[in-house]
Amino acid sequence: MQTSKLHLPPLPYAKDALEPLIGAETLEYHYEGHHRGYLVKLEQAIKGTPHAGQALEEIISTSEGSIFNNAAQVWNHTFYWRCMRPGGGGMPPRELCTALETAFGSFDGFRRRFLAVALAGFGSGYVWLQRGRDGQLVLRFAANAETPLREGIAPLLTADLWEHAYYLDYRNEREEYVEAFLDHLVNWEFVHENWRRDMADMPPTQPGEELTGV
Ligand code: FE
Repeated sequence: MQTSKLHLPPLPYAKDALEPLIGAETLEYHYEGHHRGYLVKLEQAIKGTPHAGQALEEIISTSEGSIFNNAAQVWNHTFYWRCMRPGGGGMPPRELCTALETAFGSFDGFRRRFLAVALAGFGSGYVWLQRGRDGQLVLRFAANAETPLREGIAPLLTADLWEHAYYLDYRNEREEYVEAFLDHLVNWEFVHENWRRDMADMPPTQPGEELTGV
């Protein structure tokens, strides 16, 4: 009999550690209710299927429908928690900042684009910072549980835009939540680690091959 390797990683900080930007009540419901709930539903759904015993990433890349949705939500939330830290925000490490300036004109251009993409996204989903097909950094909104992992792309940063992420603290003001996320919560060291790993995995540019912007 196969045993499931799935588990719920602990939150990387206490539930009140992001106060007052994200309240302890939000993290209690978001982590214990929503995140754990996706894992419980996933474990139920894969029983007796070929997905039982698979690693989470493998389930995400080979499933559809509710199995995909719950698997991706387990992964997305674990990633989202790590994208924040108490006392976060501010400026990224120099090397990453330069990459953001190249892609978005300036760090402020990145910040404005992140807000614009997050606010233009209709309904529930996430804003993702990731590598585009040409290697440039891009920002995109993806609805519901959709994740860059499905395309084999390791994301660098995300903000959960489901209302359960911000409604208790900001009601319907998604903009205020995203501003607080960018200015005071982003764990830039984590994003930097992801970016360095992503660069190391990139195939070397062939002579004569120019990377162009989107
Ligand atoms: Fe969420």
